[in-house]
Amino acid sequence: MPPPTRQPEPDRDPAPDREAARTREPAPDREAARTRAPAPARDLRALPKAHLHVHLESAVRWSTLREIGAANGVPVPDRPGGDHDGGHDGEHDDGHGGGHDGGHARGGPAFTDFADFFARNALVRACLRTAEDFRRVAREFCADQAADGVRYVEVSFTAAAHGERLGDPDLPLAAVLAGLAEGRAETGMEYRVILDHSRRRPVNRAWSTLDLAGRYAGAGVVAVGLAGDEAYPVDPFVAVFAAARDRGLRVVHHAGEAAGPESIRRALDPGLAERIGHGIRAVDDPRLLAELAERRVPLEVCPASNVALGFAPTPAAHPLPRLLDAGLVVTLNTDIPAMVGVTLTDEYARLRTGYGCSDAEIAAIARAAAAASFAPAAVRRHLDAEIGRWLAGQPVFDGGPGKSSRRATRAVLRLAAARRPAPRRRRTDAGTPPVGHRSATAGTSPSADPASRSADGPPASAVRRTDAGRSDSLRLFAVAAHPPLSDPDRPPFGGSR
Ligand SMILES: [Zn+2]
Repeated sequence: MPPPTRQPEPDRDPAPDREAARTREPAPDREAARTRAPAPARDLRALPKAHLHVHLESAVRWSTLREIGAANGVPVPDRPGGDHDGGHDGEHDDGHGGGHDGGHARGGPAFTDFADFFARNALVRACLRTAEDFRRVAREFCADQAADGVRYVEVSFTAAAHGERLGDPDLPLAAVLAGLAEGRAETGMEYRVILDHSRRRPVNRAWSTLDLAGRYAGAGVVAVGLAGDEAYPVDPFVAVFAAARDRGLRVVHHAGEAAGPESIRRALDPGLAERIGHGIRAVDDPRLLAELAERRVPLEVCPASNVALGFAPTPAAHPLPRLLDAGLVVTLNTDIPAMVGVTLTDEYARLRTGYGCSDAEIAAIARAAAAASFAPAAVRRHLDAEIGRWLAGQPVFDGGPGKSSRRATRAVLRLAAARRPAPRRRRTDAGTPPVGHRSATAGTSPSADPASRSADGPPASAVRRTDAGRSDSLRLFAVAAHPPLSDPDRPPFGGSR
């Protein structure tokens, strides 16, 4: 496929982000450009990146899986793709599932077909059993992301499913949050957590997911959403997401990966999604493309995952260039990086080598991810400035983890260890009604103290700090700042229309 045309059609407004990227470049002197030696390519690993769509369970290092498996009596083959059997636990969702056979996925670097992909996910679940297991993979996840130049990540985690499996609703999430806090202290990378729920699973579990999200909002959980087989409708879950929005949580659904454009429409309305996970099937419907562009609904595009799972035939035939040329807000993500053997830097590199994007366009896409994130406004602005420095060829990062990071870490660790009842704290979503449903599993938790699940907000141990010096970027990033759930200067994207 020839490189996509990067010029907008004359009768169509280009996306502001891309237009901004163009206008930030100096006025072109084409004659001079022809005679000038090409500028050295900027280092894409150093590009400060926001990573919005990545599943923790699909980002576990294989070496770690082997060690954890050995400790827990679960055989793990030497290499991915080996003969493994994690046992059938009935959770074959994994954020994906479109009803196609596995043959399309052949040739993927890490798994051979869809059945193998499911088996890999079952194996990961079979290995993850103790709090220390979850904590370790979360901490290592931070190290891997930070080493790849990710400065802010929103990591998806299917907390309620693990909690049901292990008979302790809080254990997996509390341990993951502890590991993430440690990772932040070590790397300076900021994070938030999205709790996903498979569409194939009961609505009661979705309520359990919301219950967890609400109780751990002060420790970094920022959003909830649907994953799993998109053939299953959004409708049974609408009340859950309405309650989530009422509570100040953000909403993001997988849609338009395996299923067609209608799944994207339903995710937005009545599903209340503010971003769309994948959304690549929007290219099948010009009217939807125009609507998504007009409403500025961000898409979390994951090309290597799509190719590996057979949702796009080849990288060259991936719809990403068409989404860009239609003026959509496109963000770049990995989805299942350990499964595919891809990093976010690899994905950005493909923009340059596969689609002919300039560094200014690459920076615009990185900026789009920062802007589309659920991070507090100060973090988004800071990321944007870092990306600007990258484009200008200036040093990007400035410092290491500070004291506030360690304080933040201690706060989350206390939360994970004690899971204690929450004293009242100042609410950031005044007037928000409590979640009007108690999950089927909530009352079974040893930590199910009614006070800890009040609608008054997260435990006091996670009280946010907003008084850090704004001039110190790492304090800014590391402040534990688990910020107001409702960000007053950032109205949600279109989902409520
Ligand atoms: Zn996903």
